[in-house]
Amino acid sequence: MSESDKHGLSTRCVHTGELSDAHGSPHTPIYNTTTFAFPSTAAILDVVEGRSAGSLYTRYGLNPTIQALEQKLASLEGAQAALAFASGMAAEAALFLTHGREGIVCIGDAYGGTLELIGQQLPLLGIPTHFLLGDELDRLDPLLADGAQMVFFETPSNPTLEVFDIAAISSQVHAHGALLVVDNTFASPVNQQPLSLGADLVVHSATKYLGGHSDITAGALMGSKELLDAVWPWRKNLGQTPAPETASLLARSLRSLVVRVHRQNSSALAIARAMEAHPRVARVLHPGLDSFLGHDLAAHQMSGFGGMLTIEVEGGGKAAAAVADRFKLFAIAASLGGVESLATQPVTTTHHGLTPEERSRRGISDGMIRLSVGLEDPEDLIADLQQALQ
Ligand code: PLP
Repeated sequence: MSESDKHGLSTRCVHTGELSDAHGSPHTPIYNTTTFAFPSTAAILDVVEGRSAGSLYTRYGLNPTIQALEQKLASLEGAQAALAFASGMAAEAALFLTHGREGIVCIGDAYGGTLELIGQQLPLLGIPTHFLLGDELDRLDPLLADGAQMVFFETPSNPTLEVFDIAAISSQVHAHGALLVVDNTFASPVNQQPLSLGADLVVHSATKYLGGHSDITAGALMGSKELLDAVWPWRKNLGQTPAPETASLLARSLRSLVVRVHRQNSSALAIARAMEAHPRVARVLHPGLDSFLGHDLAAHQMSGFGGMLTIEVEGGGKAAAAVADRFKLFAIAASLGGVESLATQPVTTTHHGLTPEERSRRGISDGMIRLSVGLEDPEDLIADLQQALQ
């Protein structure tokens, strides 16, 4: 662990990986350049052949702005190393192609793009893939015994906020010599540290809480240097490295990650409690509520419950759409984790592609509205929900 990694998370968010320059910039400048000049052919060969570290070519990720960001990303998850990507899906694709070729098991619900990649595209390459719901974990051991090399899940998951036991599943996965990957996008490293609980790798859509302002599309992978060194050539040759401008914006956002997420945690809990008391709301799903099925596990493995919640409106899909259409502050949009509050009805967006039977098997009803709580005053957000529910 480096000296800076002994600091608390907020300090690391601000300081880790920052490069100061000859002009006294307090943070890493944008090296907006595709290539780097060397004093001699011998000097460039030293970098190409790995004898000396240096900036070489931006698509390789060998650019100071990108490498500074990666130090900060690694430090956030307590990881040895990190790789930055042009999107969350780019990070997942490179990860699955590198370490998942012997077979992937996806547990629980996941982002629609992830389900499509694992369920429809990777099998075209001959990669065996399997899906288990939370109540089907008795089927995990046989799949691992049969050769699946990677287990992947989101926790909390989308949109039911289901919580999976990272430590318990990691022991089970490691007993078979397989890898555990956790998508930590919903929780963020502020609320949950999967590597410390036994996961081998963490993946993020940095488009969400890490970016935090709905203005960057990016991804990140964190884990051991050995596992990430194997991913590096895939990122390089699939051309998935983020642009230096994006890397710089993401590092900018990370400096305020902790305060943003703490505020989103407290506002989401206040909204969840207010919604639980509302007569037109049939159910509220939020890991911080005592009534939530996975509350005890969440309280054990998370240090905050996150800024996401799902409400189920009385009256089904049409009633939920009518409520969402009356929102004045919550915008109807598919993403999450930004400073502005967003709402989406899973049946119309993230889970639109599933059959009604499959949605019901996954506990996703037409009356659900998923809320991503932003940085507005929580009283204003509660008032907005109440006027829309009336
Ligand atoms: N993982 C989760 C949990 C997501 O919600 C998303 C996108 O919504 C992704 C991964 C994919 O990320 P991106 O849109 O940055 O490619």
